[in-house]
Amino acid sequence: MTPDREELQEYRQKRSFDKTPEPRGGRARDRSGNRFVVQEHHARRLHWDLRLEHDGALASWALPRGFPESPDENRLAVHTEDHPLEYLTFEGDIPAGEYGAGSMTIWDQGTYEAEKFRDDKVVFRLDGDRVSGHFALFRTKGDDWMIHRMDPPADSGDPMPSSLTPMAATLSTLPPDQENWAFEIKWDGVRVVAYGEPGRLRLFGRNLREFTRQYPEIRPMMNDIGARRVVLDGELVAFDDSGKPSFQRLQPRIHLTSDADIRRQQRVSPVVYVIFDLLYLDGRSLLRLPYEERRRELSGLGLNGPNWQVPDYQRGDGDVLLDATSRQGLEGVVAKRLASRYQPGKRTRDWLKIKNVLSQEVVIGGWVPGQGRLSGRFGALLVGYHDDGALRFAGKVGTGFDDATRGLLQDHLDALRTDESPFTGRQPQKDAVFVQPELVCRVEFANWTETGTMRHPSFEGLIEDKPARDVVREKPAPPPPPEPEE
Ligand code: MN
Repeated sequence: MTPDREELQEYRQKRSFDKTPEPRGGRARDRSGNRFVVQEHHARRLHWDLRLEHDGALASWALPRGFPESPDENRLAVHTEDHPLEYLTFEGDIPAGEYGAGSMTIWDQGTYEAEKFRDDKVVFRLDGDRVSGHFALFRTKGDDWMIHRMDPPADSGDPMPSSLTPMAATLSTLPPDQENWAFEIKWDGVRVVAYGEPGRLRLFGRNLREFTRQYPEIRPMMNDIGARRVVLDGELVAFDDSGKPSFQRLQPRIHLTSDADIRRQQRVSPVVYVIFDLLYLDGRSLLRLPYEERRRELSGLGLNGPNWQVPDYQRGDGDVLLDATSRQGLEGVVAKRLASRYQPGKRTRDWLKIKNVLSQEVVIGGWVPGQGRLSGRFGALLVGYHDDGALRFAGKVGTGFDDATRGLLQDHLDALRTDESPFTGRQPQKDAVFVQPELVCRVEFANWTETGTMRHPSFEGLIEDKPARDVVREKPAPPPPPEPEE
């Protein structure tokens, strides 16, 4: 029995070398080397394969989440079969249907120094281009292994933020100095900040509620993110049958909690994550960089998949883009000052939203009973906005509901019923039924009347990420004056 045959037996049994481009491997002549390789393996699930040259073969572990950043966090290491030394330089595509199908590229290589190399524990110092440091691989139970970082990383840079509230735009009109601004299409969806790390992607709304489970179709974006650590800002958008963003189509996705419901709705109303900003990249906070530099780094990430995209922005000529969005029935544009930095949680005049159609978030304060087909249920919602702490009546919303939405809303309304009117000042009609003013919804409407009510309001959907007390009447602010010429 020759030892090198024995140790590669499992490796060879798993592969058909007439189909895979992987090396079959020969007999190792030199058994004293100390090279290592880390391969990024886009298999069914992205992972990184760490292979340490040891006794004429490559001892191998798959790291689904890469190397730990600090000693505080051990990460899973899946022990795999020994690979031949020829695998140190292997890159290629393992064909579908074969073991480990998917693309394999070299992510890092170099040498390592072993302090301990036992069957259940390996302690070593890696010296590569991308990863270096003092690590321990150790077996926990059965054949489960973990990788532990023993030294703090030399310079890990800025810590990755974990709870950023997105920057907001001020309702306004087109700025006079359009050449100093970038213009983007305003996407009508739900704002989401995404935190991506090796093997992990988390999605959070603007009130910091986590949405990761609700949108499984965004998960494969991890493959595009790879080993990088990023914080992205964007909008989750659903589309109607004509391909237009539809806030109403998104509605059923927001509340789901059961995996079966989530899967079903994912097929009916798939979403696209429209990404428009990059806030953090690999140990660097980008918040202080000007808009265009952040956008340049964002496009460098190559994020482009069936359910995630980075649409272009336009420099200047916002009026042209606004006209185009109006013709296409889109909500409007967002103007972002080219030189502006990113201010989390702030609504500033460095970002302006310019709308083709008026829309407004309102608080539901009651309802009027329906008639005919709708008898016993609500016919119209009574809504308002806060002004100096008081809820002001803003009108009656009687259209824009489908049957499912009516049913869902009626349940909410019944649970919140109260005898007292939440409105201060002007009151709605006599037969009104009141509710505690907790539900927030969005309406589109034609214009404001002089008495402060909305003309022809239409229901768009419930808003989950904004507390009722924050709902005020949105008034367009004038755009900021042009920047002084240098
Ligand atoms: Mn692998």
